[in-house]
Amino acid sequence: MSRPNANTKGKTPRRPVPKKQVNNQKDPVGVYCRVRPLGSEDEECCVEVISSTTIQLHPPDGIKANRNGEFKETQYSFKKVFGIQISQMELFEDVAKPLVDDLIHCKNGLLFTYGVTGSGKTYTMTGSPGQGGLLPRSLDMIFNSISPYQAKRYVFKTDDKNGMEVQNQVDALLERQKRESQQSVPKTPSSRQKLDPEFADMINPQEACRAEDVDEDSSYSVFVSYIEIYNNYIYDLLEELPIDPIKPKPPQSKILREDQNHNMYVAGCTEVEVKSTEEAFEVFWRGQKKRRIANTQLNRESSRSHSVFIIKLAQAPLDADGDNVLQDKNQVNVSQLCLVDLAGSERTSRTRAEGSRLREAGNINQSLMTLRTCIEVLRENQMCGTNKMVPYRDSKVTHLFKNYFDGEGKVRMVVCVNPKAEDYEETMLVMRFAEMTQEVEVARPVDRPICGFAAGRRQRNQAFKEELSRRLEERGGPIDGETLSVMNQLMQSFPPLPPSELTDPTDDHTLPRLIEVLEKRHRIRQMLTEEYNKAANMLKSMLQEFDGNLVAKDNFIQDQRGKLGEKDKMIQNQKAEIDRLEKKAKMLEYKIDILQKTTNIYEEDKRSLQQELESREQRLQRELSEKRRMEARMQGMVSDTKLKWEKECERRVNAKQMEMQNKLWVKDEKLKQLKAIVTESQCERPEKPQRMPRKDKDEPAPTPAKRSASPSPVPVQVHWPPQVRQAPPSPSPSPSSMSVASCISEWEQRVPQDSRQGRVHTPGDTGRRRGRCWTGDGEVPVRPCDLEELGQRTGLPVRPRHRRSHSAGAERWVDHKPPSNLELDTVLQPNLPNAIKVSAPTEKALSKCDKYVLTHQEVASDGEIRTKLIKGEVFKTRAGGQSVHFTDIETLKQECPTAPSRKRRSSGKEDDPPEGDWTDVETRCAVAVEMRSGSKMDPALHGCQKRRKP
Ligand code: ADP
Ligand code: MG
Repeated sequence: MSRPNANTKGKTPRRPVPKKQVNNQKDPVGVYCRVRPLGSEDEECCVEVISSTTIQLHPPDGIKANRNGEFKETQYSFKKVFGIQISQMELFEDVAKPLVDDLIHCKNGLLFTYGVTGSGKTYTMTGSPGQGGLLPRSLDMIFNSISPYQAKRYVFKTDDKNGMEVQNQVDALLERQKRESQQSVPKTPSSRQKLDPEFADMINPQEACRAEDVDEDSSYSVFVSYIEIYNNYIYDLLEELPIDPIKPKPPQSKILREDQNHNMYVAGCTEVEVKSTEEAFEVFWRGQKKRRIANTQLNRESSRSHSVFIIKLAQAPLDADGDNVLQDKNQVNVSQLCLVDLAGSERTSRTRAEGSRLREAGNINQSLMTLRTCIEVLRENQMCGTNKMVPYRDSKVTHLFKNYFDGEGKVRMVVCVNPKAEDYEETMLVMRFAEMTQEVEVARPVDRPICGFAAGRRQRNQAFKEELSRRLEERGGPIDGETLSVMNQLMQSFPPLPPSELTDPTDDHTLPRLIEVLEKRHRIRQMLTEEYNKAANMLKSMLQEFDGNLVAKDNFIQDQRGKLGEKDKMIQNQKAEIDRLEKKAKMLEYKIDILQKTTNIYEEDKRSLQQELESREQRLQRELSEKRRMEARMQGMVSDTKLKWEKECERRVNAKQMEMQNKLWVKDEKLKQLKAIVTESQCERPEKPQRMPRKDKDEPAPTPAKRSASPSPVPVQVHWPPQVRQAPPSPSPSPSSMSVASCISEWEQRVPQDSRQGRVHTPGDTGRRRGRCWTGDGEVPVRPCDLEELGQRTGLPVRPRHRRSHSAGAERWVDHKPPSNLELDTVLQPNLPNAIKVSAPTEKALSKCDKYVLTHQEVASDGEIRTKLIKGEVFKTRAGGQSVHFTDIETLKQECPTAPSRKRRSSGKEDDPPEGDWTDVETRCAVAVEMRSGSKMDPALHGCQKRRKP
């Protein structure tokens, strides 16, 4: 029986050409912090684990004192913080296990420990017996996961250009034999116990773990290399060199190269294929030993070198049979996990190195400096969107791991901290770098392209093999104890062979019987063969059918996967878009924040400016109103002063005028006297000289002595009625400029002649000539017109010329009573029938009447009320107006009985009339009141106004 030939099966589906997947997803560098326990209990501690993600640094007392308290407590946050109680296993679970998982799923990883010397970097990475670090645990997990699916040694073969080739089974076998003969291949130890006790029991078997979802339909091979970077030189720790015990050669440094995929690798570095954890350990310890020897021989300080342990995992899918590795170089996937134990990060000064050691230390420091710079630039580029060149090439360490930051992979860092106070300052620097590193993002590795074969090939192949051997056993397959009995049974089913011993030459029964049995057996055999062939064919067709189905299903699955891939891609794109938009949103929020702050500042400014403006406006208002007040005050003062001065001027002018008039009058008088004397001397007339002295006596005071309380009826525009004037007044050029006094005097002079012609005397005349009566052509002294004598008074001469025509006894009066007059309840009241009563004389009233009477009241200083009835006649003027000629004054005096006895005026004395009385009347009732036609002005008012004029 043989396995159905692979060639007869359906065509091998081609693996889809791996397309370059768009990878927009990024993860930040995972930074973990591990705090080691203090060396001794009494040491001062400067680190405190606050939470599972935060640690706090306390400045030690010494530093506080030295720096004047400049140091503050500082907190640093990481992805996770591990305190002193954390076990190596727990650390591994969190930090390295996901990287190993990724490695098995074809993704690259980089894990490094960072910290000052003695902070536990090596302890974390390598560990100690029973306390295996991340490295042995990673190796253990890898082998636990892939052991059943490992390819035979040399099936995978590294080339010199960081690539991986596959060999067929035969070539691999041949190479194996060749190497074995050279005895260079280490024998895989069968158990851990056989190993060096130094690293034999690093991992507790109970702690063994393995990855999930390992692809069973692939074959795996693990390759390890171990390098050391010291003083910026790369040394291969696994290189096998013939040892010259007499003159040991110094190790040769290696160079870095870039492969066709632009990945960096150490050219010519030994990559050892290991088949188990133990073997890998063994190789690692070999390298460690070599490192130690080199350090001692070359007098190097181990803490100043970086060690890099690279685990490469090659995997290729099994062929369609699930038996052999697919012989296709393109199908080989190589992922690698680099475990880096960095040199102590402390500054040179602390190491107390000298000479070349100092220079070396400087270089080593330089490489860590470069690492820091690279991280800084990367962070800046990523955060600010800049495209600064990252100086990877400045040191070997950064150059080697360039692809992790430039390309894709998962990067993790364990920051080791020694909490002792001595390390405080260095630790702080370490923390700062670590915090910054967290902000760098690395592209997330993409999933491995799906291989085109149906899954479960390995199992099917196994099952087939088992089934085959079972059947073989049944049908006499490969013989072993059990198979033999099966064969025996099968043999027993054949007819037994007859005895074939020939004893007699003539025996012709035995042979024919044997022939017959053998023929029978032959027939059975043929039958069985036919049966077998039939069954085989049936099985074959069945298998082919199954295979066809499987291929169809595979294709279907393939199809679905393709669709799934597309959907995935879409999701990825959308996620990237979301990421972008989120970033944008954040940016905008930040901008909004800034704008809001700016707005607030501006508003604040605006408010303060407004306040200032308001206060200034208020001040301005205040000042303005102050100014206005001042102005008003000044104006008031100015007008007051002006008024005062005007009054003063007027008073002075008036006084001066009066004075001048008096002088004039006196001169006139003198002139007249002189004239009279002259004329007297010419023609002898006896009366004239008598008059003259009286005149002198009569007219000493032309100025009005007293003003009454009632409106003054004195007209200022004094007309010399043309009809009265017989000759034009000699000195005065115009009537308006004529003074009252001069008018009166002139009139006085003419009165004797006029009276003969029937002219009317003005009240002024009357007042002036009080006690005199005009009778016929001579002067008759009359007593003053006191009230008690009113009834006995003789009628005044009336000028017939201008007398209004009126029927006898039907005289009409204008009774002018100013509203200021008091109503005195006297017994003797003038009875004026048909009188028109007015409070102010109007032209209309005057035109209707021919008589006028003004009732004028005044209060004397002794309380006596004097009522004067000033009478006159109304004439029509030529201009069409009305003219009143005063003819008489009646005075009524009323006395209060309780008032002190009044100084009675001697009314009987004609020659000594009280000047004040008649002069006052003279002031009030001038020669005439003339009102022009149409004038509505109160003559009193008229007079007042005119008098004001200078
Ligand atoms: P580094 O490599 O950073 O210079 P090491 O790993 O050599 O420091 O650690 C120095 C010492 O501290 C070692 O003896 C190690 O056993 C011990 N040590 C470090 N970390 C721990 C820890 N977490 N628990 C116990 N011992 C530790
Ligand atoms: Mg160390």
